[in-house]
Amino acid sequence: MRLPKKTKRYCPFCKKHTEHKVSQVSSGHKRGAMKRGSMQRAKKRGKGRGFGNLGKWGSKPATTKFKRKTKATKKTNTMYTCTVCKKSHMQKRGKRCGKVQLGPKEEMNKKEGDKE
Ligand SMILES: [Zn+2]
Repeated sequence: MRLPKKTKRYCPFCKKHTEHKVSQVSSGHKRGAMKRGSMQRAKKRGKGRGFGNLGKWGSKPATTKFKRKTKATKKTNTMYTCTVCKKSHMQKRGKRCGKVQLGPKEEMNKKEGDKE
């Protein structure tokens, strides 16, 4: 996905459409290794090993192993800074995509080679 460096957007502070600077923000903080439903936590409870009638932690692998694929893409997280009042606000909802690039298309064409 390619995003422009500047766009016209609605500013909730100016209450009208103004020029906005677009910038990428890292999507959320990284959590520790002890996640809910993790193997480490299960082992602390005395589960996650052995075999037999242990429900989720039985002889079969966890449902997440064979039902779900790991996500290949991430949700975008962009920040919009108003050039008039210089206040910034976040996007409402991120779109899933592999890569996000800021800036115009022209820069990419130069690298690909000249077609003319
Ligand atoms: Zn504004």
